[in-house]
Amino acid sequence: MTRVALIAHDEKKPDIIDLAREYETLLETFDVVGTGTTGKRITEATNLTVERKESGPVGGDTQIGAEVVDGRIDGIVFLRDPQTAQPHEPDISALLRICDVHDVPLATTETGAVYLLNGLAEDVEFEL
Ligand code: PGA
Repeated sequence: MTRVALIAHDEKKPDIIDLAREYETLLETFDVVGTGTTGKRITEATNLTVERKESGPVGGDTQIGAEVVDGRIDGIVFLRDPQTAQPHEPDISALLRICDVHDVPLATTETGAVYLLNGLAEDVEFEL
């Protein structure tokens, strides 16, 4: 089953909830994992089941990064707040880097998220 991670910084949580609502039917067909607070907010706002990791600032991003290393994650939507410094910036950078290392698609904007989710839905195979 396609496994997708959903993460959003506080300022972006309303946007990821909108996205989860809009794509609820599709996300129901996926295995969804999220950082603690993002996962909680999505489960409150939708009927989705979200496997919740720790909150981002206490290691949730790192836990999702570990799943990337293990080859368990097919895509990540990570709506970051570009205007606010985050205490766990090193963890965020590590997650972005490890997605690059393992060629796991990662979207950090709403439009990017739409492309990513539709790509996963179509099970597009990219060959280089
Ligand atoms: P949160 O973590 O979903 O627990 O708020 C997100 C993050 O800041 O990485």
